[in-house]
Amino acid sequence: TPPTIFVITPTYSRFVQKAELTRLSQTFLHVPQLHWVLVEDSPHKTPLVAGLLADSGLAYTHLHTATPKERKLQDGDPSWLKPRGAEQRNEGLRWLREDRRAPQGADSQQGVVYFADDDNTYSIQLFQEMRGTQRVSVWPVGLVGGMRYERPVVEGGKVVRFHTGWRPSRPFPLDMAGFAVSLKAVLANQDACFDGNAPMGFLESSFLQGVVTMEELEPRADNCSKVLVWHTRTEKPKMKREEALQAQGLGSDN
Ligand code: UDP
Ligand code: MN
Repeated sequence: TPPTIFVITPTYSRFVQKAELTRLSQTFLHVPQLHWVLVEDSPHKTPLVAGLLADSGLAYTHLHTATPKERKLQDGDPSWLKPRGAEQRNEGLRWLREDRRAPQGADSQQGVVYFADDDNTYSIQLFQEMRGTQRVSVWPVGLVGGMRYERPVVEGGKVVRFHTGWRPSRPFPLDMAGFAVSLKAVLANQDACFDGNAPMGFLESSFLQGVVTMEELEPRADNCSKVLVWHTRTEKPKMKREEALQAQGLGSDN
């Protein structure tokens, strides 16, 4: 069997959550040997997410951990102020390390770990590209960082620099959606995790610095020439009329 791809997704309650998770889960249904680790940013598991997972047809693990209040983005804060999803990704890593610690058989430490936000758009081809990850594989991400795409630049089969609009001097100037890590590397580097206090743009670096060097990066997607994942963002729906009806006592409660 091919190595399992563990997809760690932070998610939080808002109007579009069910739509996002429906789209995501139905993309994942097209991918063989995928295990979805869905981590709610919440003090408890919600019935909405539990039900969606139970009906999804996917192999999954349902986790939760609430972002501490002082680290959480408040309504009206600019989105770049604090990193989002750091604690949830770390909770996913914690579960994986615990679950795979004791070898359960030859294949139990074979696998790939990918951090997939719930609002991005993923080609199913991306998962074929990452399946053979030895340590850390990388590829372009579309519609991110104020650019059509960001990407690692490859020369002679190696990543030599990064095409990015902003601070290319960061240790790993790439988006969360632009890399995958082997389960072996996750297990061999027990302390590698996301720093929820990392300054803007340094969250990915905070994790990757503990796992890999630039020279070791494995370029995928035709030497990083193809975009197979897009950092799309969903517009927050307006609820003006809903609220007007609520005020008249005519609102629907689902
Ligand atoms: N997220 C979360 N808690 C929050 C905000 C976001 O768990 O308070 C999750 C969100 O569901 C997504 C990931 O963290 O999977 C990244 O958040 P977002 O997509 O808003 O970040 P951006 O697109 O701005 O990078
Ligand atoms: Mn997003």
